[in-house]
Amino acid sequence: MIIVLKPSVSEKEIERILESINDFGYKAETVKGEARTIIGAVGNQKEKQQHMNLLGQLPGVEAVVPIMQPNKLGSREFKNDDTSFEVGNTIVGGNKLTVIAGPCSVESEDQIHSIAESVKTGGGTILRGGAFKPRTSPYTFQGLGEEGLKFLKDAGDSVGLPIVTEVLDVKDLDLICQYADMLQIGARNCQNYALLKEIGKTKKPVLLKRGMSTSLNEFLLCAEYLLAEGNMSVALCERGIRTFETATRNTFDINAIPVLKEKTHLPVIADPAHGTGYWQYVSPIAYAAIAAGSDGLAVEVHNNPEIALSDGGQSLKPKKFNIMVEKSRIIANAIGKDI
Ligand code: PEP
Ligand code: MN
Repeated sequence: MIIVLKPSVSEKEIERILESINDFGYKAETVKGEARTIIGAVGNQKEKQQHMNLLGQLPGVEAVVPIMQPNKLGSREFKNDDTSFEVGNTIVGGNKLTVIAGPCSVESEDQIHSIAESVKTGGGTILRGGAFKPRTSPYTFQGLGEEGLKFLKDAGDSVGLPIVTEVLDVKDLDLICQYADMLQIGARNCQNYALLKEIGKTKKPVLLKRGMSTSLNEFLLCAEYLLAEGNMSVALCERGIRTFETATRNTFDINAIPVLKEKTHLPVIADPAHGTGYWQYVSPIAYAAIAAGSDGLAVEVHNNPEIALSDGGQSLKPKKFNIMVEKSRIIANAIGKDI
């Protein structure tokens, strides 16, 4: 439900309203708009109608209305304005085009430092790199673990970029939170609800990647697990889905971008690297995604893709990355965004 507060509501009255919401067993999220404040309350209590009536009678409350969309806190019904949030020294969402770039995996200290410099000079705004890797085969490189996190953070610090890295397992969450500015939830964990709940309890910004067989309505509900735990700094990432097509690694679902932008106020990021699987298709799909309304890109950049320990075939060399960012800037400007 949405509790719409009167413009004249006092802080004391808000406190009392929040107390009642809490006593009834709902989770509350307050949004302070320019004109008025609203509170979203979510939970599946049987006595919802009765609770709505009682809340409606409290001083300071103008109206209580049910949220009809299944993705309650993420819906435009709850919050019409686009969400934006800080990730280190940058902003994700709003009229900012985020450029997340870096290697698929952190492979060594030298590798990540060299790529971090290329990402920074090429116009990237967040440095990516996996330290805990979800690999299809257990016999391939699984990531450097904590050592990789240290290298990634040092590299980000040395060029002045915040970092994003994947959390594969709840058991690594505290450790990763000590290093990362943003937590990535990978496609394979998109519907790992236990992991989503734990990450929702942290207040770290999240890059939630769409599962390879996750419908958009399911995807929105995955995000809802994070929001319902009080973490509203969530960006959704379209990274391609499984289809009958085998010419590319996945099929980048361009439709996802306007559909998600319509259904949610959360920022939407496009990952044309995993979405195509081939470096030569990355830039064209990146441009299409920006034109379709994406709030940013997530791409893989490697200084030596031929010997990369993962995803070399879809990684851009620094020069190609520079060109992609320059052209992306032009398209972004044309639709009212800037990097
Ligand atoms: C990655 O970002 O390197 C990755 C493993 O992505 P996804 O979870 O989308 O496959
Ligand atoms: Mn990868």
